[in-house]
Amino acid sequence: MVSGALIARDRVGIQDFVLLDAHNSETAFLDNLKKRFTEDLIYTYIGTLLISVNPYKELDIYTKKQMDLYMGVNFFELPPHIYALADNVYHTMLSEANNNFILISGESGAGKTEASKKILQYYAVSCPSSTLMDTVRDRMLMSNPVLEAFGNAKTMKNDNSSRFGKYMDIQFDCQGDAVGGHILSYLLEKSRVVHQNHGERNFHIFYQLVEGGEEDLLRHLGLEKDTKHYSYLVQGECSNVSSINDKDDWKTVKNALSVIDFDANDIEHLFGIIASVLHLGNVHFDGDTKGYATLNTNAALRWLLEIHVLVLHEALTFRKIEAKSEEVLSPFTVDHAIYARDALAKAIYGRAFTWLVNRINESLENRDSKRKTVIGLLDIYGFEVFSVNSFEQFCINYCNEKLQQLFIQLTLKAEQEEYEAEGIGWEPVQFFNNKIICDLVEEKHRGIISVLDEECMRPGDATDLTFLDKLEEKMGNHPHFVTHKLANKKTRKSLERGDFRLLHYAGEVTYCVVGFIDKNNDLLYKNIKDVIRMSKNPIIQQCFPATEGDSRRRPETVATQFKNSLLRLTEILTAKEAWYVRCLKSNDNKQPGKFDEVLVRHQVKYLGLMEHLRVRRAGFAYRRRYEVFLKRYKALCPATWPHWKGVPADGVEKLVQHLGYQPDEYKMGKTKIFIRYARTLFATEDAFEMC
Ligand code: ATP
Ligand code: MG
Repeated sequence: MVSGALIARDRVGIQDFVLLDAHNSETAFLDNLKKRFTEDLIYTYIGTLLISVNPYKELDIYTKKQMDLYMGVNFFELPPHIYALADNVYHTMLSEANNNFILISGESGAGKTEASKKILQYYAVSCPSSTLMDTVRDRMLMSNPVLEAFGNAKTMKNDNSSRFGKYMDIQFDCQGDAVGGHILSYLLEKSRVVHQNHGERNFHIFYQLVEGGEEDLLRHLGLEKDTKHYSYLVQGECSNVSSINDKDDWKTVKNALSVIDFDANDIEHLFGIIASVLHLGNVHFDGDTKGYATLNTNAALRWLLEIHVLVLHEALTFRKIEAKSEEVLSPFTVDHAIYARDALAKAIYGRAFTWLVNRINESLENRDSKRKTVIGLLDIYGFEVFSVNSFEQFCINYCNEKLQQLFIQLTLKAEQEEYEAEGIGWEPVQFFNNKIICDLVEEKHRGIISVLDEECMRPGDATDLTFLDKLEEKMGNHPHFVTHKLANKKTRKSLERGDFRLLHYAGEVTYCVVGFIDKNNDLLYKNIKDVIRMSKNPIIQQCFPATEGDSRRRPETVATQFKNSLLRLTEILTAKEAWYVRCLKSNDNKQPGKFDEVLVRHQVKYLGLMEHLRVRRAGFAYRRRYEVFLKRYKALCPATWPHWKGVPADGVEKLVQHLGYQPDEYKMGKTKIFIRYARTLFATEDAFEMC
């Protein structure tokens, strides 16, 4: 056997679950995690999958020294680390010239965003770079604080919770220089702009601007230096959060924007929009004698979007109805006016966010057309359950359901199918396949999204409750769906009449149907759109192009757009080689060092980690087509060097026998060699590097 990489040992526990003796025991699995966690060893492998347990405290393991340590070192040679994974992905990409992605998953607060930042930092610091590339690298790093400011918020689960999904491609040239990047964003939780539950905040940027903004800027935007002044910021009654320093974060964001190449004009216009949203929230209505909305003051309108006050006034209190050849103004009731105001605030913010992502993409664009490979980083909002769950949680949890399905398909299912196809003897491992839940949500004509869309498009009297009726009709006896009406006596007690409950892979969630129709339609009155287009703010002009209203076709609903974007994401990901980081939440109270066994056990279960371990243990860490394997390593054996003239499989057999592979270390399939342990391959790779 060739000498080479040995498995490194930590002081405590087993660093790779594949080596755990009691590999079938969930208790042994948890003991190992806990033992390591107690010693601040938060990372553990299952083969090349990385498990990370949130320590809720700063650990001294992300220094430049640590990065240097992991650079170019074989995966199993050092204790598990996010840097080891990042490095392994990078070198795989370079040596095999292929595209890769890292799927980071786990529930809200488990540490996905932190993990993705650590990976990006690792690439930024450790990849080679030229002066030109330094700019790209800095911009990539700086896109993080900007997008977090505009897209993250404090929730009950996480003080810095991602309220949008993010997929980022980091592009490398064949020397391994980072040469560009591209971000795709998914469904921002816009409703947060106008409504926050108790204990939650609006998006960070609002507080940063009000708390940290320079006097001149605030005066220019007509803002007071106190968040209490703004209706859109006070609902959650928790503007100040001990873990967040809005003043410092403001400075970071301003600096980041300048690195991304925002000039003073861009900044003025962008914050003009943020301020407009705050002013809009302070537009209040009174009812006249007939109950119609009147504006009690025009003061806030003065600051809005550089649009004439009277024009705005009319748009916020009247709806324009096109009747035959003339237009009729129909006055709003107070509720209706509030609805229109909030819809406008959400639309402005949502579109400005998309504009921001596009703008960041422009600054990360690699204009060189030379061949490049990518590493994709996926960091999406985690599975979440609140006391009241609405349309947003439905979308977020559906998204997590899809990612779990992708994980199952790429690891448990595809892996086992491949062994079968290659004729490798295999004892199938049973696992829970959540496809049934994905279908329940997304199936054409029958899934929940289809039923919702049908109700949204039905003219007349469709309401959230008629939507619920339709669901009950269609889903009646589905094992993962229940409502008050459909439930048995015992379950009924825990369900209100306007709720439906889904049994997700990660646990059951009860959704309140109120707002589903509205949020899915996401309509903005045409005359409000027409008025926004009068804005002199150039960002607003780009966000609401004049051509938009031309089409008579009904725009796709929010849920359908989201479903389609997830479908496209799945296609993007399945074309690449997958790597996984599974983040676990150590406790529900954000408490440093506390390991809540029940909570962790639940996550280990629903994430399918035990099944993954079983497949990994019984399976093979590495496989390659015979031709590819032979091409790379033929120099290691006199019989295959410089050319092997026979069948590739025979050449590979000769090669591995010469290298001293033991029979339990590999299997020969129909088209590929399967190598059981990564260390075997690493040893071969070491020998290759030395020859
Ligand atoms: P969401 O789905 O809500 O966006 P998330 O999985 O992205 O959640 P993070 O924001 O990454 O969660 O982590 C939540 C918090 O946990 C962080 O703000 C930080 O305080 C802590 N945390 C996460 N990972 C680490 C780590 N590796 N070291 C120290 N603290 C961490
Ligand atoms: Mg996050």
